[in-house]
Amino acid sequence: MRPYILAETNWKHLKNEKIELAVLPWGATEAHNYHLPYGTDNIESEYLAAESARLAWENGAKLIVLPTIPFGVNTGQSDIYLDINLNPSTQLSILRDIITVLNRQGIYKLLIFNSHGGNDFKTMLRELGLEFPKMFLCSSNWFQALDRLKYFELDGDHAEEMETSLIMYFKPELVLPKEEWGEGKEKKHKITAFSEQWLWTERKWSEVSEDTGIGNPKFASKEKGERFFKDVTKKIGKTLEELCKLDLKDSYES
Ligand SMILES: [Zn+2]
Repeated sequence: MRPYILAETNWKHLKNEKIELAVLPWGATEAHNYHLPYGTDNIESEYLAAESARLAWENGAKLIVLPTIPFGVNTGQSDIYLDINLNPSTQLSILRDIITVLNRQGIYKLLIFNSHGGNDFKTMLRELGLEFPKMFLCSSNWFQALDRLKYFELDGDHAEEMETSLIMYFKPELVLPKEEWGEGKEKKHKITAFSEQWLWTERKWSEVSEDTGIGNPKFASKEKGERFFKDVTKKIGKTLEELCKLDLKDSYES
């Protein structure tokens, strides 16, 4: 039983505990190229949040990892079989309910541990921050925490070398053999401003990628996944400790 994982701990342990920070992993259920499981983002957020929390807990941080929310925003993938969409407005409602509980119970810090590129909590946290002035609300994208190209040869953002390496490390039995991997080729939009990223529109997934992947996974390995996992959880673990210790009345440097 890991005392920092809510789904595993118990009332006996928690009734006299004083938790500072709740961590909410949030994933998605969607196709990941031909070869990775639909639950890829959920597996990643669970493993990464749990290990980061363990490192922080062992240094005295009082935090709790909530169960992973398994569905994310997949509005751009409505024609991809069994990709399950949760609308942003539904996410806002879920967050409001969870924050209501935390706020009432005096757990004033919440980190959303996001694992899916289509989830974007910023505007929701602005709105909820106004509603719950005592709460400190933040969100993280672990996939932006390190310079990925120090760990992986090829970039991408969906079922690419990084995600394939991580799932090969976490759950090798759920990764199809290499002969089955698609190339994850992304078709660029005809208007170049989109590639420059100052003009944005949602990608229509089935038109952007043949195999649903974005980024070629061909150089992925378990060893690369392990190396990245160790370094990224060490970095996130430190930040979780800092969040736990943070004095909400004195957060900025003088
Ligand atoms: Zn993913």
